[in-house]
Amino acid sequence: MPAMKSFHIITFGCQMNEHDSERMTGILEAQGSTLVSDPGQAEMIILNTCSIREKAEQKFFSELGRLRQLKTENPNLKIAVAGCIAQQEGRKILSRAPYVDMIFGPSDIAKISDIVEAQRVRRNPVIDIEGDAEYHHKLVPTSRTDSLKAWVSIMYGCDNFCTYCIVPYLRGRERSRPPGDIVKEVHDLAEKGYKEVTLLGQNVNSYGKGLGTAVNFPELLNRVNDVVGIERIRFVTSHPKDLSDGLITALSDLLKVCESIHLPAQSGSDRILAAMNRRYTAAAYLDKVKKLREAVPGIALTTDIIVGFPGETEDDFSMTMKLLRDVSFDSIFAFKYSQRPNTVALELARQVPEDVKEARLAQALELQQDIALQKNKDLIGTVQEVLVEGPSKKGETLTGRTRGNKAVNFIGQASLRGSLAQVRIRSAAQNSLSGEICG
Ligand code: SAM
Ligand code: SF4
Repeated sequence: MPAMKSFHIITFGCQMNEHDSERMTGILEAQGSTLVSDPGQAEMIILNTCSIREKAEQKFFSELGRLRQLKTENPNLKIAVAGCIAQQEGRKILSRAPYVDMIFGPSDIAKISDIVEAQRVRRNPVIDIEGDAEYHHKLVPTSRTDSLKAWVSIMYGCDNFCTYCIVPYLRGRERSRPPGDIVKEVHDLAEKGYKEVTLLGQNVNSYGKGLGTAVNFPELLNRVNDVVGIERIRFVTSHPKDLSDGLITALSDLLKVCESIHLPAQSGSDRILAAMNRRYTAAAYLDKVKKLREAVPGIALTTDIIVGFPGETEDDFSMTMKLLRDVSFDSIFAFKYSQRPNTVALELARQVPEDVKEARLAQALELQQDIALQKNKDLIGTVQEVLVEGPSKKGETLTGRTRGNKAVNFIGQASLRGSLAQVRIRSAAQNSLSGEICG
């Protein structure tokens, strides 16, 4: 008899959190519990939280507030808070929401069944944010939301300490999973019919550090590339300072590694990059982009930028705008700087006023709209390999993604799902393409 018959998960934040939720689901389902889509039908609701920016934190606390009503109607309902806010706030969550039953951090996921059982026995809130030094060696059952594309964690934590970022404080030091475990997971996925894997880590380029083997990230890509059945390999995220020539060669030589890279620039101003502790200059970033484009013609490039970092002047911001124009990214994620607890930047003087951040964000996004549309228009007339995912949201066409990770809509039989189609691009919008199957 499972400790909990049914559960519901609400996930906030990044792909890493989405994948952590797949793992919690996998563990609980292996114990006989059932994932339900209606929170009103669940015996336990898990909130898998994000605290990368203050807004994400506010979203979580308002959701938690809404759950108070459900708990009043059903006092047997258990509420669990997992993820980065659990790690950051720990017991303090109880002073805001005393109706929470379990609190555990991102490195404590493998213990979820024990935590649920301990709470059932004790009937008091259970808090476990100790972490698990062996988590990167654990093979955690995973219940995936997609049946073609899968996330595979290759490492946890981060050692970079960018001055704005809370991740190293909450997800701990960088720990790589053994290459054999990763390759086995990819083999298992191929056997189940998965076609695409995305290797996940905060800085995949430094994969292998501390493992005591000679396997670095390009070598890992080589090994994953050998897995029969997998057609496409992607990875996030690459720190520009660690983007090696070996990785550029792997991108150019390995057939399954898609011609696409997410390379967060954060800023175009050397002064701000130094204050962010990014450890590269704008010129060094542009140099890596040049090398990538020479070795992998047509590679899709995406990035993250932060506007309004403390001390960012109009001049600094104009350098970020220049970088956006110089590189011509396929798409960007742009964020207003958000003050995070414990980080170095929190204490920096000259915080930028909210209205200035707002205006800079709007300018960057407006510029990028034009660039992204032009990049997509440049593909009109080309033939793109598309992994067919199935009917589009409106259901009238099929949808899938190019190797550059762009969404494409086209007419075709639903039976094409899971196959690679050759699609000639006929029209382009800012966020998607349309075309027709050829050949
Ligand atoms: N490890 C990745 C890297 O180095 O780029 C991504 C980590 S983070 C989950 C994703 C993005 O959030 C970062 O690239 C950065 O642009 C943004 N970010 C992190 N901390 C932030 C903060 N305090 N305020 C605004 N944006 C932030
Ligand atoms: Fe945060 Fe920097 Fe680590 Fe990315 S590399 S997770 S931005 S500290």
